[in-house]
Amino acid sequence: MSANILKGAAVAAALNEKTIEKCNFLKAKGTEPCLAIVRLGNRGDDIAYEKGILKRCEALGVKAERILLPEDMDENELINEIERLNGDKSIHGILVFMPLPAHINEKKVREAIAPHKDVDGVTSSSAAAVYTGSGVGFCPCTADAVMEILKFYGVEMAGKKAAVFGRSLVIGKPAAMLLMEQNATVTICHSRSAEPEKIAQDADIIVAAVGKAAALGKEYFRRGQTVIDVGINFNAEGKMCGDVDFSAAEGIVSAITPVPGGVGAVTTAVLLKHTVEAAEKYGDKS
Ligand code: NAP
Repeated sequence: MSANILKGAAVAAALNEKTIEKCNFLKAKGTEPCLAIVRLGNRGDDIAYEKGILKRCEALGVKAERILLPEDMDENELINEIERLNGDKSIHGILVFMPLPAHINEKKVREAIAPHKDVDGVTSSSAAAVYTGSGVGFCPCTADAVMEILKFYGVEMAGKKAAVFGRSLVIGKPAAMLLMEQNATVTICHSRSAEPEKIAQDADIIVAAVGKAAALGKEYFRRGQTVIDVGINFNAEGKMCGDVDFSAAEGIVSAITPVPGGVGAVTTAVLLKHTVEAAEKYGDKS
């Protein structure tokens, strides 16, 4: 029997509906939610992501301000630009496309973003907010998207075993934390984990965020599992694919997200949800 395909579009549509409602309410009260998008240079994947965000902003009524900067920009000038955005009361969220060019200290730039405008969850203040459950900041959008999918499709998490593959600060670690918050028992696997197949087989929920095409093959799966594939990779034929061998897993597990059309479809909806929440919570705070 093949798995239930957990499409991201339905999840995004439900999130967008609430975002539109909240956005209209704020506009009626005189606050127009606005996202600043900072892009250095002209990387193809940044441009594609930006295009998707701008399209969504227009559809939802969220204002977007693009800040296009040269790839060889000086680090201090970039930080000054971010500080200018921090001080602009009409901007509620700041997204800086990463990775940044090698001559720029990415950590310094991330930390320059005001926590109450950090809608992509890249500052240590946001990380602290995720780990402590309080404070100023937002959860990284992709980790939040994983949770929105699980909740939307009614996947039970309390008391279940979850295996998260990947321990990055933007996906693996926060996703593990959010799963634990939902009372799942979580194991985090990384590139040096021993017997990852056994850990995966033992789990009810698998989140794959390793960044390698088809890294999780059929030996990782068993019947009854829910698999969330965060990966965005390209196979030898140049076709987009996830971290899970989809054709192998689909015939084994109970439910799985597709790539494309899974987590990626929800990430932008979460970004705009965070932007409107930032406008709602912090309004005209500079
Ligand atoms: P990352 O920073 O490169 O981290 C990858 C993690 O995977 C590392 O912790 C690494 O372990 C671990 N890993 C590597 N090979 C492994 C293996 N065979 N088994 C278990 N763990 C392994 O990547 P990321 O930024 O978290 O992104 C992960 C994936 O998500 C990428 O494909 C990226 O393109 C995708 N992504 C998707 C979205 C979306 O909206 N869908 C958004 C952002 C990113 P070590 O720590 O030991 O090196």
